[in-house]
Amino acid sequence: MPELPEVETIRRQLAPEVTGLRIESAEVLDERLTRPVAPRRVERGLGGRRIEGVDRRGKYLLLRLDGDATLVLHLRMTGNVLLRPADAENEVADLMETDPRLGGPRLYESSTALRHLRFRMELENGGELLFTDVRRFGTAVLLQGRRGLDEYLAPRVGVEPLSEELTPESLCRMAAGRTVPLKSFLLTQTGVAGIGNIYADEALHRAHLHPLSPAGSMRPEHCEALVEGIVDALEAGLAAGGSSIDDYRDARGERGSMQDEFLVHTREGLPCPRCGGEIRRIVVGGRSTYFCPGCQTRLRRRPRRRKAAPRRPGAKDASTGAAP
Ligand SMILES: [Zn+2]
Repeated sequence: MPELPEVETIRRQLAPEVTGLRIESAEVLDERLTRPVAPRRVERGLGGRRIEGVDRRGKYLLLRLDGDATLVLHLRMTGNVLLRPADAENEVADLMETDPRLGGPRLYESSTALRHLRFRMELENGGELLFTDVRRFGTAVLLQGRRGLDEYLAPRVGVEPLSEELTPESLCRMAAGRTVPLKSFLLTQTGVAGIGNIYADEALHRAHLHPLSPAGSMRPEHCEALVEGIVDALEAGLAAGGSSIDDYRDARGERGSMQDEFLVHTREGLPCPRCGGEIRRIVVGGRSTYFCPGCQTRLRRRPRRRKAAPRRPGAKDASTGAAP
């Protein structure tokens, strides 16, 4: 599933190629993509608009359009956004089969083949923006106005981890009093946005923190280590052009290489690159979670701040009211 580094890689590739171009026409080939809005309505809303920029919030890709509209795309499990440049001579399907840069036969078999095409936009320079999706969980939402966008994103996306909003203090505030495991805490998009299963494991390993530690058990030094771990893991992903362990391809149809640099994710039974211990796999909140029991500390749940009444010597447990 594409996470922040994968979506940001696509954004960086698309922005210089499509900014300033007019959308000649849009075609939604799968009504699930725009549900509950009718595909025709989205198509009509897009046709003729100019793309003013490409942004990202969490795992959402945002196409800013003239007339104060925004097309919000989410790739979910297996979505890919692919740009077919204006000078591409062949049909996309031919490109997939012949051009190794576009992933070769495997790509053709998997997600970007035309049979998985859900959405296409023709651009004024003759290029095409394609959205493919094997599992069909991806979404496209056309929003009007800044307020419409804010109202859509507010309940879905929290702090941007690569912005100044994420600090040890802000992370500690978010985690305070939370008993959920750190792994689940990191996957919550309304907390720190953009982190999924891969980068949560990689961030926790960098921070020396056990994925089952209760989020609220972090002390300031742990929050500091975790912020560093998150930023390092995401930046490593960006530098590698994302991770392609399943269907992910960038906007040019190429694979990322972060999967070759994982420290723990998918590395069950292999030695930890830091301490040599054996990496283990457990399931946390239904998600496969990889960590090193040797160097990732399991924090204890912190006692509540409330002051307990001082015990009198010889008294039984005061809370039971069974004092002599
Ligand atoms: Zn280790």
